[in-house]
Amino acid sequence: MRSPGRIVALTRRPVGIGCAVALLFAAGCATNPVTGQREFSLMSEDKEIQIGQEQDAQVRKEMGLYGDQALQQYVNDVGLRLASVSERPGLPWHFAIVDVPAINAFALPGGYIYITRGILPFLQDEAQLAGVLGHEIGHVNARHSARQYSRSTASSIGLIVGSILVPQSRPFAELGETGLGLLMLKNGRDDELEADSLGAKYAARAGWDPDGIPQMLTTLARIEEASDTKGIPNWMQTHPVAEDRAQRVQAAVRDAEQGATKFTTDHDGYLKRMDGLTYGDNPAQGIVRGATFLHGGLRFAVDFPEGWEVANGTSQVVARLPGGKPLMVLEPVQRPVGRTIDAVAVYGMQRAGFTEISGGRTSIHGLDAFVGSYAGPMQNLGRVRIRAAHIVYDRAIYLLAGIAPLDTYDASEPAFSNAIDSFRPLTRADAERLQPNRIDLYTARPGDTWQAIAARAGNGVVKPSTLAIMNGHPVDDQPRAGERLKIVVNG
Ligand SMILES: [Zn+2]
Repeated sequence: MRSPGRIVALTRRPVGIGCAVALLFAAGCATNPVTGQREFSLMSEDKEIQIGQEQDAQVRKEMGLYGDQALQQYVNDVGLRLASVSERPGLPWHFAIVDVPAINAFALPGGYIYITRGILPFLQDEAQLAGVLGHEIGHVNARHSARQYSRSTASSIGLIVGSILVPQSRPFAELGETGLGLLMLKNGRDDELEADSLGAKYAARAGWDPDGIPQMLTTLARIEEASDTKGIPNWMQTHPVAEDRAQRVQAAVRDAEQGATKFTTDHDGYLKRMDGLTYGDNPAQGIVRGATFLHGGLRFAVDFPEGWEVANGTSQVVARLPGGKPLMVLEPVQRPVGRTIDAVAVYGMQRAGFTEISGGRTSIHGLDAFVGSYAGPMQNLGRVRIRAAHIVYDRAIYLLAGIAPLDTYDASEPAFSNAIDSFRPLTRADAERLQPNRIDLYTARPGDTWQAIAARAGNGVVKPSTLAIMNGHPVDDQPRAGERLKIVVNG
């Protein structure tokens, strides 16, 4: 969960909407730089750059950039080398790592390209990194994103910012997701295949092994196959099946290899750069330890019911009973309306479609709060009952709610109440002690298994199958003795 706008700052308008409306009028006719064809509905290059600049500010604000300057510089250098051999070397190219744990990469028109911190450990070498960046450069050069922008509706862009996350509107929207899907305007299947081929071409021209693209796609295919819920793929929703892409890009890879004798991959150098990388959630955006959610930036903690799965999204934390319907949601209240916490709570829940049954003012670990019971309809769950606390803390209001269908509510209520009562401030010292999990380098010993390595990292820190995929292996493979590996260590 990212920091909420403080109460004083909550009046800002979602700027994306105005921007999208402007775009509808910006569409005209322009030449596609990759195909050389005139295309209707493409915006001018100046307009592309302007949109990129505006949205870049938004991306930086909403997602934040990863705080390692050397690594940022490295990614930017690789990106610039690729862009310089592409069809549009003159664009104001920018490459940045956003501080997001999900595995993803995306581009804005005008040459703004982002990869997530989460994708980095899943790449094996610099050639694969070049493959990801080259793919995104391909989208920009072929004006896929520009085209998508001219097609997209005002409402879909408006969602990028200022989304109002009431439980009813998007109950599971953030589960295992980071909101990135909204930004990654859906590229068509043909666009993806074209971007893969362009990526292979740029990589080879700039001296990297174009095989990095199918290798990277193979890893993505393994992630798709292994992922159940946690942490992984937005990529899946927006891209065609990676395994198929890995096959289809082969012809372009063979083309790109023509005439070249030696390509760079730089496995060892790449691994060294991964040493110490933050893995998974960052305490500044909230981390999950067991069923406890701790937010170092906002300085509070909540114990969700024992054994529940807790997923930390961009603006919402969702906890669920595995295999069951009850869930809990924690989020900062955006744009609270009302003079008192009672009024904010009741009106906010009403606005989301819920009627108050009972409620009262209380104090939770010394914090002013309103705890109430509500009833109403909810998508996918039917009629539900909700136990919800609105808690005032540090100039923000947090909603912490347990939601269950009517027939199971009574059984869940004690667990909901315990979780609500556990909301507590963290001291500055407590917050500073929270450390993220990190990537460490390790040389496999004879007889090592992914299971054994994962167990040494601590319970639930990383799955054996994730370690296998992260190191370029199929999940049913084991590490080779002497193999240099990326592993995850407990924070
Ligand atoms: Zn793509």
